[in-house]
Amino acid sequence: MADRTVIARCRRCGAEEEIPAWNIINAQENPELRAELLEGKLFLWTCPRCGADNLIKYPLLYHDPAQKLLLWLTDGVPEVEARMAETIASEEGLQDYSARIVDTPGEMMEKIKIAEAGLDDVAMEICKYVTAQEMGKTDADFKFFRLEGADRRILLTYPESGEMQVVGTGFSVYEDAAGIVGRNPELAVHGLVRVNAAWLAGHIR
Ligand SMILES: [Zn+2]
Repeated sequence: MADRTVIARCRRCGAEEEIPAWNIINAQENPELRAELLEGKLFLWTCPRCGADNLIKYPLLYHDPAQKLLLWLTDGVPEVEARMAETIASEEGLQDYSARIVDTPGEMMEKIKIAEAGLDDVAMEICKYVTAQEMGKTDADFKFFRLEGADRRILLTYPESGEMQVVGTGFSVYEDAAGIVGRNPELAVHGLVRVNAAWLAGHIR
């Protein structure tokens, strides 16, 4: 059962409906919610009046004990983020977790995919940065999609002209990025933080 409800409002016709919402999703205890999240269905609400699909975002903590992953989907209130960071820092047993603030459901899905592929999100940000530079698409919003094939080709998606494009890059690009992360203490992350393109831009010279 859902923890609570939120009021969803249709962006097309304005109809409102009270829909179930969650405070915390534990990937081990709620595997069906993890699946819904990864399929992009968890935050999707279809308006009963006009049939429009709406993205309904609300604050949510995602916890995967197996991956030692904690993701906080924030509504961007700094005080709430600071309180959440304090709570996580003081919680026993979370010291070796990757704890991240994400701003969108899409980012949350990406972080889960990266962790479940056994990859590191800091190295992935560098990998995406390098790929964007090579393609001359530095403004594009690249996201990790999945690994492909025996040579573990890295598939990234990015939106262009209203469609989702997929581009593949060699695993060696990721390995080089992981090497950079290992050699640079300033790329080490602690506590509940954002790790995204803007964060990386602030850390590379
Ligand atoms: Zn509607």
